[in-house]
Amino acid sequence: MTKLKLHWQILIALVLAVIAGTLTGTEGALFGLRFYDVYAFVGQLFLNALKMLIVPLILSSIIVGIGGIGSGGALGRLGGRTLLYYAATSLIAILIGLVVVNAVAPGVVDGQPAREVIGLSEEAAGAVAARVEGRSAGDLVDIFLRMVPTNIVAAAAEGQMLGLITFGLLFGFFMTRIEEAYAEAMYNFWQGVFSVMMRITEWVMRFAPIGVFGLVAKVVAGTGLAAFVPLLWFFLSVLAALALHFGLVMPLLLKGVGRVSPLRHYRAMAPALLTAFSTSSSSATLPLTMECVEKNAGVSNRTSSFVLPLGATVNMDGTALYECVAAMFIAQAYGIELGFGAQFTIVLTALLTSIGVAGIPAASLVAISIILAAIGLPAEAIGLILAVDRVLDMCRTAVNVFSDSCGAVIIARLSGEKDILRK
Ligand code: ASP
Repeated sequence: MTKLKLHWQILIALVLAVIAGTLTGTEGALFGLRFYDVYAFVGQLFLNALKMLIVPLILSSIIVGIGGIGSGGALGRLGGRTLLYYAATSLIAILIGLVVVNAVAPGVVDGQPAREVIGLSEEAAGAVAARVEGRSAGDLVDIFLRMVPTNIVAAAAEGQMLGLITFGLLFGFFMTRIEEAYAEAMYNFWQGVFSVMMRITEWVMRFAPIGVFGLVAKVVAGTGLAAFVPLLWFFLSVLAALALHFGLVMPLLLKGVGRVSPLRHYRAMAPALLTAFSTSSSSATLPLTMECVEKNAGVSNRTSSFVLPLGATVNMDGTALYECVAAMFIAQAYGIELGFGAQFTIVLTALLTSIGVAGIPAASLVAISIILAAIGLPAEAIGLILAVDRVLDMCRTAVNVFSDSCGAVIIARLSGEKDILRK
C-alpha cells in the first residue's frame, strides 16, 4: 500500500477535527475525560514541539544564510530584493483590504453604523467620536526598539524574534570577517546546528496530522456559530480580501516574476499552509515552511535560510490586510467617516505594525489597538471583532506563510536558481 502524502493526511485530520469538534463541543466526555481537554493536550504538545525548534532554527539559519553569501555585494542584492518583495506584497495586501472594506462596508447595517447590532452602547460610541482626531501611535516606536535587544538570551526566552534576527544578521556578517580557522569552525558549527534542527523538524512533521487534529478540534469545539452572525459581513470581507491575495496576486507574481507554476507551488507548500492554518502562528510553522520550500519547491538553502526566518517575522501580508480591514470596520461600526488622511494613516500603520509584530496567535490584536490609537479610537473597540478573530487568525497566518514562501521562490529565481518547482 502506498503511503498517503503528508498533506492529504493533514487534510483528512482537519476534516475529522471539524466533525469531532462539532460532535463533542466543550462538554462531551467519555469516562469522565473531556474530549476538549484531549484536543487541547494533543494540540499543545505539537505546538510546543514546533516552538522548541524556533530559537535555534532562526539563529542558525540566519547565521548560516548570511555567512554563506560571501561578498557584501551579493548580500546587498539578496537583502534589497527581499525587502522590496516584503514591502511591495504587504502594501498590495493592505490596499486589497482597503478596497474590499470600503466596497462592502461591513460596519454599516441598513445604512446605520453596526455598533448596536454588535452590542455597543450609544454613549460609548459618542465618547469615541469625540476622541477621534490627531492621535499619535507612540507604541509603534516600542516595537522597533526591540529590534536591538539589550540581552540576547532574554530576547530568545521571550520570543522576541526581531531582536534575534538582528543579532543573527550581525553574527553571520562578522563571522566571516575573522581569522580563517575560527571563521571556518564557526561556520561548520552553525551549519551543524542548522542541519540538526532540520532533521528534528522532519521528525516532528510526521506528527502534524495528529497535532492539527487536536488544534482544530479544539477551536471548532470552543467557537459557537452564533458569535459569527452579527459579524458575518466583516468575516466574509476579510476572507474575500485574503482569498484575492492568496489566489490571485500571489500566483500572478509567481508566474509573472518567478516564472514558475503556481499550482506546483501550492502543492509543494500544502503541509506548511495547513499547519499555519491550524497553529495560527507563522513562527511556529517556520520549521515546516523551510522544509517545504527546500525539499518540495527546491529552493537553495542559501536563499531560504535568509528569506524565510526574516519573512516569518517581518513579512505578514495576511496580518497587514486584516489590520486594515479590522480598523476600518471598527470605525464604520462606530459611525465614523474616515477621510483620505485617516485611511492613509491606517495603511501606513498597518504596514509598519505588520513588520513589527511577532508571528504568534492573535498578534494582530496588539497591532490593531495601535492603529486604533493612531486614528483616535479607544483600544476597547477591539472587543467588536474578538468573536471571529481566532478563525480569521488561522486564515491570515496561512496567507502570511504563503507569501514568505512565494518570496523565497521568486527571489531564488531572480538570483538565477534553476531547479525550482520542477516536479
Ligand atoms: N497569527 C499571525 C501569525 O503568526 C499573526 C497575526 O496576524 O495575529 O502570522
